[in-house]
Amino acid sequence: MYTLLREKQKQFFYTGQTKEYRYRKKQLERLKEAMQQNEDELLEALKKDLNKTNEEAFLTELGPTYQEITHTLKHLKEWMRPEKVKTPASHVGSIGKIHYEPYGVALIIAPWNYPLQLALSPLVGAIAAGNCAIVKPSELTPHTSRVIAKLLDETFDEEYIKTVEGAVDVSQALLKEPFDYIFFTGSVGVGKIVMEAASKNLTPITLELGGKSPAIVSDDAKLDLAAKRIAWGKFLNAGQTCVAPDYVLVHEKVYPSFLKKIKKHAKALFDKALEQRTYPQVVSERHLERLVGFIHDGEVQLGGHYNVENRTLTPTILTNVEWNSSIMQEEIFGPILPIFTYQSLDEVLDKVREKANPLALYVFTESKKVEATIIENVSFGGGCINDTVMHLATPYLPFGGVGESGTGAYHGVESFRTFSHRKSILKQSTKVDLPLRYKQGKLTMKVLRK
Ligand code: NAD
Repeated sequence: MYTLLREKQKQFFYTGQTKEYRYRKKQLERLKEAMQQNEDELLEALKKDLNKTNEEAFLTELGPTYQEITHTLKHLKEWMRPEKVKTPASHVGSIGKIHYEPYGVALIIAPWNYPLQLALSPLVGAIAAGNCAIVKPSELTPHTSRVIAKLLDETFDEEYIKTVEGAVDVSQALLKEPFDYIFFTGSVGVGKIVMEAASKNLTPITLELGGKSPAIVSDDAKLDLAAKRIAWGKFLNAGQTCVAPDYVLVHEKVYPSFLKKIKKHAKALFDKALEQRTYPQVVSERHLERLVGFIHDGEVQLGGHYNVENRTLTPTILTNVEWNSSIMQEEIFGPILPIFTYQSLDEVLDKVREKANPLALYVFTESKKVEATIIENVSFGGGCINDTVMHLATPYLPFGGVGESGTGAYHGVESFRTFSHRKSILKQSTKVDLPLRYKQGKLTMKVLRK
């Protein structure tokens, strides 16, 4: 169904235009201008889809995308340069270089939780690396999807960049095509479907998935700050953030005090938005129903109020939750935070390892030893010491998961590399022709043994 479009893009790719530095730079500038010109419409769409305020939408959607473009424009020339590498003694006289080559036509599939940023940020990487691209936004945020389509279609020819709107059927039809690269952001379950589809054509992929990201609060942590930063990272966007702390493990010694503080901060940070009805919505009725089902898994310490008509659920804190209850079987992805206590770091390691590799992990501690124990002994995508979420907002750190939370990474130079094939070229000297390789004698063996 999309064969024609993909082939049209491939033909355009073969013209070589998209590979030129000037072309890439110009398109990134045009993307930024198009976003600026459509800013009001984008903000309005995000308000309609998720009830995001202009401030929150700017902070978490437009702002990071602008930053990604600005950072890329600043460094693109240097990233594109072939990288010279060393050569071993056996290759005397030759020069080794890594060339960054665009894959060709990329498919970008985006989720609904940050529907603008997660569609356009990967696109920045695809353009920077010299690819053509098809972007498939989420059908669950239809207003934002429409503005993205309008913005991209007005700015670019379809042979270069094209938005294809639609739901699962559209996504699956696209996945049948032999793309040169697939960049998927979404759930673990759909990630498996994407990987299977990609395997049929041996298409390289990036999977940006989710999981249960823990926040660990040690007994030596600065408790008030820990409580504030966890409350912010969790309840932002109504908990619908892939790197939101999913649950808290707090040392039993400081548990009563931590509980008081996190309730205080959650109220201070979000009560005004709740009163003014500017707190973000849960994306769909189905998701709200799923979340409401979790409330009874524990003792409600804060919140637990929901409204089906407005699709809202207030920031909710649960205690006395069974480790094996339903809320602990899947990523919560909503404004409910279960808090557990622990006695020793070994217990923390056991508990976290029991679940699939988290996308993010947060440790709150003043101890280098605690910090090192967690970082060195738990496998997770990335995270913060004494903060939440902020690691994904710097273009200098690759962002991605590991195992069930994903494959590959992006942001900054990593986005450029993700959408580039590293082509290794050895340029051999024609002035000298060392006899060594032609002889399978002792000297050759001696050189190779070194
Ligand atoms: P989702 O997997 O349901 O949907 C993502 C995209 O895949 C959408 O465009 C959708 O149309 C498409 N899709 C859905 N079902 C499909 C199917 N059966 N076959 C082919 N395509 C299909 O995810 P979501 O609900 O939109 O997003 C929430 C999930 O995404 C959470 O698990 C969250 O942790 C994760 N996420 C991860 C990141 C990250 O950067 N790692 C960022 C945001 C969200």
